[in-house]
Amino acid sequence: MDSHQFVCLYGHFYQPPREDPFTSIVPHEPGATPYENFNEKITAECYRPNAEEGNFASISFDLGPTLAMWLEQRHPDILQLIVDADRQSFARYGTGNALAQAFNHTILPLATTRDKRTQIIWGLADFAHRFGHPAEGMWLAETAVDEETLEILAEQGVKYTVLAPWQAATPVDATEPYTVRLPSGRDIVVFFYNAPLSGGVSFDWDTTTNADSFAASYLPGHLNTEKSARGEDQLIVVATDGELYGHHKPWRDRFLNHLVREGASAFGFEVTSLGRYLRDHQPQREVALRAPSAWSCSHGVARWGRGCECTEGDSSWKPALRHALDTLAARLDETFERETAGTLYDPWAARDAYLSLRNGWMSAEEYWNQHGKNDGHPVGKAAEERTLQLLEAQYYGQWMYTSCGFFFEDLDRIEPRNDIAFARRAISLVWQATGLDLETAFVRDLAAAKSWRTGLTGEDMYAQLPSVAAGLLPNPRTTTADPAA
Ligand SMILES: [Zn+2]
Repeated sequence: MDSHQFVCLYGHFYQPPREDPFTSIVPHEPGATPYENFNEKITAECYRPNAEEGNFASISFDLGPTLAMWLEQRHPDILQLIVDADRQSFARYGTGNALAQAFNHTILPLATTRDKRTQIIWGLADFAHRFGHPAEGMWLAETAVDEETLEILAEQGVKYTVLAPWQAATPVDATEPYTVRLPSGRDIVVFFYNAPLSGGVSFDWDTTTNADSFAASYLPGHLNTEKSARGEDQLIVVATDGELYGHHKPWRDRFLNHLVREGASAFGFEVTSLGRYLRDHQPQREVALRAPSAWSCSHGVARWGRGCECTEGDSSWKPALRHALDTLAARLDETFERETAGTLYDPWAARDAYLSLRNGWMSAEEYWNQHGKNDGHPVGKAAEERTLQLLEAQYYGQWMYTSCGFFFEDLDRIEPRNDIAFARRAISLVWQATGLDLETAFVRDLAAAKSWRTGLTGEDMYAQLPSVAAGLLPNPRTTTADPAA
């Protein structure tokens, strides 16, 4: 039996943030009944069984920071099993099987250079904190990529990422990793997943009914026969959303378990992780990419920008919503830079480090020593609090770009509503810190985004957000004295 055939099952595990940014409470979601919300439902169907069956030890995966934060709060035992699976691999092989993820699942080609860097740095910081070692690989939201994103990944020490084969500029042999050379002189490794197999596992029911027949009938057909004849090593990467194993497809956690424990090896495939494969197989070939591009849009990254035929209906709400967010972000940024000129040595470096302060991974003393003006002497309590509010506004300014807000067909859905809610939280923090009204202009911009299903505009949806205590927002129309409503 040929021992040079490897297979890597890759799971992208992610949930968008669902909590109200003013109360941190995840609202009840009737569609998830009998569970309280979709996070609970998907946990019961997917995260828990896969963790308890030990599947995370045998696959490569990324676990989104917003999902990890929620698991940490609600199901720390599951998060621990997932982290332990990576740590055991790291101890045993010197490379773990978890990859980092850009922090807010932002479509990085559509982000500013500064936001790209913050998303990547926060994602890496979150990973290092949780998994206890630096990440070697990073999963990009929707595998959306451009050259600048890869430059920043390489600059931050990331060795590899995973893309769809059609994101290469020329045809590739997906059974081996490639090097992408970057203008700076740096380079990064790209694994291309096997598109037909990954699509079959995701969308075709029969492909995953039996792990033995998957290994016996499906996998061999995707080997490079010339490599097989020469006895060369090769790798098949099957990359999908992790949630399909149990949630989108009931009981597929068992399929995965049988495949990685017995099925693959019984038919001559060694189960490996991307990190292990790369450790033993440096890329031999280089490739250029089509950029920007992504795995779930065939129009560059238009699905999350100007809109495209990937989603039905009139997608003119997408550029309108993005314009509203981008305009708000520019005002958040200029306010942040101006108002922290007296307290922060370099506001953008301070923002990149803020996640560590906010999550208690870095002490306040250490943070202010590194980023505060006056050589680490306290900047004064009031100025310090104001600066923290503006940093927190930057934090929510990142959350408002959660890609799910643009992924689907219509504006009048929970995902765009959540992005607008995060934007409102940033507006509130700036208002509290400076008395500056960023709301009026934002709401005016939102009026241009209209749902083709219900006719509601972004302005209507902003007005429908839960009321907050008086004084938290500049516009009296959206403030009431009843914070419990
Ligand atoms: Zn598209």
